[in-house]
Amino acid sequence: VKSEGRNHIALYSDELTAQAKQRVLLETRLRNALKQDKLQCYYQPQIDIASGKIMGAEVLLRWHDAELGHIPPSVFIPLAESCGLIHHVGSWVLQQSCRQLKTWLDQGIAPFSLAINVSAHQFNKDQLLGLLEQVLIDTAVPAHLIELEVTESALMINEERVIAIMQQIKAMGIRLAIDDFGTGYSSLSYLKRLPLDALKIDRRFIEHIPQAHDDKQITSAIIALAHNMNLKVLAEGVETAEQLAFLTQQGCDYYQGYYFSKPIPANEFVALLQR
Ligand code: C2E
Ligand code: CA
Ligand code: CA
Ligand code: CA
Repeated sequence: VKSEGRNHIALYSDELTAQAKQRVLLETRLRNALKQDKLQCYYQPQIDIASGKIMGAEVLLRWHDAELGHIPPSVFIPLAESCGLIHHVGSWVLQQSCRQLKTWLDQGIAPFSLAINVSAHQFNKDQLLGLLEQVLIDTAVPAHLIELEVTESALMINEERVIAIMQQIKAMGIRLAIDDFGTGYSSLSYLKRLPLDALKIDRRFIEHIPQAHDDKQITSAIIALAHNMNLKVLAEGVETAEQLAFLTQQGCDYYQGYYFSKPIPANEFVALLQR
């Protein structure tokens, strides 16, 4: 029994070591990818339901490593958050996508807005406001064309501080949306205190529409809640005509999802806009 136990521990610590090594490897490669501009911004169209037109795009990061292949953001974003690289990643995405938007504006391709994900961790450091100011100056993109997507988890860090930062972001003219709405926070009281423009209904509520009665109820309740609070509402992860029909009937403002388009590179996004 004793030796078995020891083997077990040895195996376990081997596994831990392997995991730790993998982490260090990924971290190093992510650092290099950032340095060498190896990350890519993809764009997923956001559609105005009433007109059927593209009104914006969400910026989603992609990372293809020469040796490791495609590494999804669900892996490297949490990694970046835990090792502190998220601030670098976050500022890279912001600069890169705003520069792209400026190019499109100059070419007469826009105007539409860009929704950019901001990690809760970015609210924990003082540099976010300075970064936003700098990007607006550098790229000369109109602030109202930028929307930041923030998850409810940002409020868990330090609600008062986050509210103060959001108010300053708002004062700059940048729009604010709550991402993955309905999945995070226990109290909705923050909705009154945050200077928000939009709610994004999480994909998991949309996924089983039209079969799931509960999800339909939740979705229509979120739409009503948003409108009562003078917020726009967007449904994520729309994959079928039935889902879109339900959202249209409920008066949802916008949607995004594979039904219209997956996230695509900048050149494909332009082709889609011109179609
Ligand atoms: P998210 O912000 O909730 O982004 C939506 C995710 O749903 C994206 O996954 C998108 O590709 C996927 N999606 C969109 N439409 C559909 C659909 O119709 N069906 C299905 N099944 N999925 C759909 P992705 O690109 O893998 O990103 C995953 C998460 O990684 C994002 O979730 C976001 O939390 C994070 N992320 C991505 N880019 C960034 C970034 O630049 N900064 C930060 N902080 N996080 C990012
Ligand atoms: Ca998002
Ligand atoms: Ca989301
Ligand atoms: Ca999500």
